[in-house]
Amino acid sequence: MQYRNAQVMIDLDAIKQNIAMLKTQLPKETTIFAVVKADGYGHGSVEVAKAALQAGASMLCVAILEEAVTLREAGIKAPILVMGYTDPAFSGEAESLDIQLTAFQLDWLEEAKRHISNQLNLHIKLDTGMGRLGLRTVEDVAMFLETVDDPLFNVVGIFTHFAKADAADDSYYLYQEAHYKELIQPIKQRYKQSILYHTGNSAASMRFPADMYDAVRVGISMYGLYPSIYVRDHSPFELIPALSLTTQLVHVKQLPQGEKISYGLTYETETDEWIGTLPIGYGDGIQRRFQHFEVLVEGKRMPIVGRVCMDQCMVKLDKAYPIGTMVTFIGKDQTEKITLEEVAEHLGTINYEVCCLLTSRLPRIYVNESTS
Ligand SMILES: *Cc1c(COP(=O)(O)O)cnc(C)c1O
Repeated sequence: MQYRNAQVMIDLDAIKQNIAMLKTQLPKETTIFAVVKADGYGHGSVEVAKAALQAGASMLCVAILEEAVTLREAGIKAPILVMGYTDPAFSGEAESLDIQLTAFQLDWLEEAKRHISNQLNLHIKLDTGMGRLGLRTVEDVAMFLETVDDPLFNVVGIFTHFAKADAADDSYYLYQEAHYKELIQPIKQRYKQSILYHTGNSAASMRFPADMYDAVRVGISMYGLYPSIYVRDHSPFELIPALSLTTQLVHVKQLPQGEKISYGLTYETETDEWIGTLPIGYGDGIQRRFQHFEVLVEGKRMPIVGRVCMDQCMVKLDKAYPIGTMVTFIGKDQTEKITLEEVAEHLGTINYEVCCLLTSRLPRIYVNESTS
């Protein structure tokens, strides 16, 4: 039951269309892994995963084992890869739920062996320059291949992650790409069976589609958001944002000049002003830094005035509006729109962070959900 006057709306058709657009750019043999970590970047991992699979994604990627278990518990049967570190003590759970894990440490393999009953599917992680997780040298790869050569392990993929595929200067991307090519040589020689080679995130797959091996791990662009302003400005196609965030005016009043608004009294009316109250605040992910940013009312921009509270905030209106008037934080209203990129710029961060931080207190409403 939804009682509150605020919600995140997710257009699942937008997600499918974004995947379709990404596919048209990629070579036919390159498949799409849909990245649904962090509850699908705040969009809802289960619903996004289902839409992505319907649109032709071949695998789901998450960051931690819990997220994979959530997908399985929702009845999703597709292959799932946990891209981050999983404690090897839980490799038995992963095996029994047919969840693929990421491996890059010899000790991890030794410990995992004690928990696997038959065989665990693994992707080997290579650190080609992100400095986060993975094997870094040809020697380390060689040693790892010795240890992983065990019937308890089935190597199904080898991947790396780019640190700077979203910027105008592509030199570091090219360096990492060359390093990956070098590190996979011994793997290519050893494994005659088919193994999934994958490197690209959204930025790399949009900018260098021809370099993308067997699959791309697409997160942000699937949601209709750009990996960076540079990629947005040089995108071969326009992505369709799936997420919008709306609320309603729950109180409207006219105040004379000199009245104070919210904690700390940081705003004072300059003349007779119409002030509206919105039932949404930093407890929903509308951070205090939203102060001075804008919302849309009947297609017009209205400033957020005074401090944002945990559950509420105030806006300055251009006139009286009825209680229940729709207010848009993110999304389109008539001819005006506020994108997550614009919000992120105001907050001094990136769109990824803003959508991840929308809390579970905001109900997610799905539109264009397929009935199949
Ligand atoms: C999050 C993540 C991705 C997806 O990145 P986007 O920029 O959202 O496309 C891909 N690979 C790894 C390893 C990740 O952690």
